[in-house]
Amino acid sequence: MDNLYYALEMTLNDWQILFAEWGEQKFRASQVCEWIYSKKEFSFHAMTNLSKALREKLNDNVIMSLPVMIRQQVSKDGTKKYLWNLNDGAKIESVLLNHGGHKTACISSQAGCPLKCAFCETGANGFTRNLTRGEILGQFLMMEKINGADINNVVFMGMGEPLLNEDNVFSAIRSLNAKNMRNLGARHITISTSGIAPGIEDLADFEIPIRLSLSLHAPNDELRSKLMPVNRQYPLQKLIASLKRYRERTGERITIEYALIDKVNDSPECAYETAALLDGLEPYINIIPFNPIPSKPDFKRSSQGRIKAFCAVLSEMKIEFELRKERGTDIMAACGQLAGSQR
Ligand code: SAH
Ligand code: SF4
Repeated sequence: MDNLYYALEMTLNDWQILFAEWGEQKFRASQVCEWIYSKKEFSFHAMTNLSKALREKLNDNVIMSLPVMIRQQVSKDGTKKYLWNLNDGAKIESVLLNHGGHKTACISSQAGCPLKCAFCETGANGFTRNLTRGEILGQFLMMEKINGADINNVVFMGMGEPLLNEDNVFSAIRSLNAKNMRNLGARHITISTSGIAPGIEDLADFEIPIRLSLSLHAPNDELRSKLMPVNRQYPLQKLIASLKRYRERTGERITIEYALIDKVNDSPECAYETAALLDGLEPYINIIPFNPIPSKPDFKRSSQGRIKAFCAVLSEMKIEFELRKERGTDIMAACGQLAGSQR
């Protein structure tokens, strides 16, 4: 009996190898990928430019495994949150943001997260496993299919740390970007990391110039290690060195994420320290409102006054920043609120 294959786990090259084995022409690989990635046609029977025999052979040998939607929630601001069931019963979430017709998919790279940042609900709920490339792509394709519309941007800002699942994340990105697959521009793909320095180095050498976002949240090792235990492994000096290398190699500006938590990391001193730390990096800072999470009732969103004072220092220090609006908090779809459960 032939081996079974999983459609979304296959790269374009894998399809070409399979079709060569089957005595089919090479361009058939691109045709199948176009059906799946562009037209969102997930039934081999409906791939009408292939022979009936080939469609049947595909149907018998290749499994079209997709995340199964358990629930869709729609926020009052139009943000949608999806809860998916995976083959082994693992549950993950993705978010679809809508900005004036422009759609951004926020997708997960892991079921849970092992890094346990003090302010993050995903971290508080533990770690199950890495997602496969097909499970990463499946979230995106299913959201396009369900919404009947193209998604313009992908951000790896859902559950998990993408640079701890580098091979699968990079493989998924190659397929999103490939001309014969989803053909999504590199500038429309962003990885957000908590600061896995070796992963940032790999990203500096990655052949597709995607964007990088760093979750900083604290400007010194003492505070950052308390908030983000991963900082003990990759302290700021090491992290900044890898960011500088990324900046030099790619010429890309890095986005820094900084969530202001009341009286924890939002003092003017913290703002001055942040400016000094990032000196020479020409970053773009996103100041995110802290989103309250059930597992950390002590952490509150900073007051308007403290947010203003923090931002005033950044302006004074000539650091470019944007104060982000909260999105999807009413359905727990905002940054750090994804738990993969049916709350
Ligand atoms: N693990 C990666 C990708 C997840 S992105 C990372 O941490 O970067 C999720 C983003 O939301 C990160 O910038 C994270 O720091 C931020 N975040 C987590 N919990 C948050 C909270 N409660 N409020 C606001 N932002 C939060
Ligand atoms: Fe993991 Fe990112 Fe949450 Fe930290 S903020 S626990 S790295 S998902």
